[in-house]
This record gives sequence, C-alpha cells and structure tokens, in this order.
Amino acid sequence: MSTVEANPEVAARPVPENSELELTSGRDARVGTITVRRLLPLRMRRSVGPWCFVDHYGPADLDGTAGMDVPPHPHIGLQTVTWLLRGNVLHSDSLGTEQLIRPGQLNLMTAGRGIAHAEQSPGEHEPVLHGVQLWVALPDASRHAAPAFEHHASLPRARLGGFAVTVLAGELAGAASDATVFSPLVGAELTAADGPAECVLPLRPDFEHIVFAARGQASAGGVALSVGQLLYLPPGRPETPVSAPGGATVMLLGGAPLGEQLLLWWNFVARTPAEIAAAADGWHAGEFGPVGGYAGEPMRAPALSPARLRLPRKPGS
Ligand code: MN
Repeated sequence: MSTVEANPEVAARPVPENSELELTSGRDARVGTITVRRLLPLRMRRSVGPWCFVDHYGPADLDGTAGMDVPPHPHIGLQTVTWLLRGNVLHSDSLGTEQLIRPGQLNLMTAGRGIAHAEQSPGEHEPVLHGVQLWVALPDASRHAAPAFEHHASLPRARLGGFAVTVLAGELAGAASDATVFSPLVGAELTAADGPAECVLPLRPDFEHIVFAARGQASAGGVALSVGQLLYLPPGRPETPVSAPGGATVMLLGGAPLGEQLLLWWNFVARTPAEIAAAADGWHAGEFGPVGGYAGEPMRAPALSPARLRLPRKPGS
C-alpha cells in the first residue's frame, strides 16, 4: 500500500485558536485483505450527523494479487456507502445482488433489520484500488426497515470555484442526489480536476460536517489537511473556504446531529447490548441468508466482550 500523492502547494496552517474546528488523525485497521485508515469513529466523537464510520484505503497496488477480499458478513441498523477513486470492486449480498462498482458510481446498501454482503476484487481487476467505505447510522424510526441495495451508475455534478463536485447523497451547490437517505445529510466529492481550485463551500448551518483529503492535500476552514487527517466543523457555519492543488480530491460529509445514543459493535449499529448479541447469534444461526457469488467461508463475529458493549457517555457524541 502506498500513498503516492503529495503536493507542497498548500501551506501548513494549524487549527486557529478558538476556531472550534478539530483536526484528528486516523489509525490503521485491517479489513479483510486491505489496510485502511480509520478516520471515524473517534474516541471523543462517535458520529457526525448520521455518519458513524469512515474508512479510507489506498491507493493500493493490487497488481499480481487476488486483490480485495472481504468475506460475507452481516450488518444491521446502518447504510453502507461504497465510493471508489480508482479500481473496481464486486459487491454481492443476501438479497441476490451482484454489482460491480467503478469510480464515480455509488453503491448504497441499506441494512435495516439485517443484510449480509461480501466485497471482493473481480477476477480481472484493475491494478490499483483506492476508495472510501462509509456507514450511515439509521435513525431509530427507520432502523428496522427492510434491507435494500441501490447502485447509482451516475450522480449529479456541479462546479464550485474550480472544483468538480459530485453529490453522493443529499444536496450541494444546487445538485441533489436521489440516493435514499433516512435523515438529513450530505455526502460529496470535490476534485480539483483542472488545476488548483478554491471555493467558498456552502454548508447547512444545522449540519455538523467533516472534511478529509482523499487524494493529495487540501485546506478547509483555514486548516491544512493531509491524507489520513479528518477536520470536524461544528454546526452553525453557513460556509467554509476550501482550496486544493490540482489533482487533489476532498470529501465532505455532514448531517443534522442524530441525537441518539448509538452502540457500534463489529458490523452492527444498535441501541442495546441485547440487540447486538441477538444479531451475532442470528448471523451464526444463518438467519441473514446466504451471500451468493462468494466461494469462501463467511466471517464469524468476534467473541462478545461486555466491556466493549458499554454505551457512550453522551448522547449523539
Ligand atoms: Mn460491510
């Protein structure tokens, strides 16, 4: 795994004093055969709007390897968002879906009460893989909904001060995605495709947001961002300045604070330890159904540890 992009054009500026912005660094984690930078959740911040999980991986050189291999595993209570910058990934799930995804396309899986899926590089895969895997927590009123899968082959685009904007979910800069969401949120990619780009990014003041550089470097809210860092912007901001050198890609995620106490364990988003235990038991009992198109063994849930099932202290934090 190598990160090849670097650009000295963005001056390194620390978070201004009293700015209320928070800059954090991700940590490495292993998902199947892939090493990821886990940017969210943080110890002090479990979710931002409904976004409760942000993994950024690659660019990884998969040439001559079997590539990504994430065996079948279950989810409850969330949506998974798959977004690629390079490469291709084959998704298969317990609804019978088989879908190849490429850069610029969106795979949106609503787990609701329960779904299982696998993700793997196709047999003839691209040599480089680079992407993000995101989770959106479902609000209490929707989290037992029927599972569903959407593939959006093309998404609405806009221009914003030299950035090519693609809206994955929600609305930004006059472009609205029809991806199904269950609480007010936004997810967008900004790429400085034609050279250095600079804009005043419109924000919804009732949303909290996170920004990270997925490729190259960037500056947001006056703060320099490198790959692996995450900038948090609290609610109350109608806009923020964003700039990036040519070739850089910035991700924006935001939403209205969920105000619900989430319990994340393994691949489940729930509210109580009992729900988590029931989902793990159900998975091992085969209740999520088989995932077609995957030859190997499914994942097993790790042993339940009571210490890891403690609820966070502050609702919505
Ligand atoms: Mn998954």
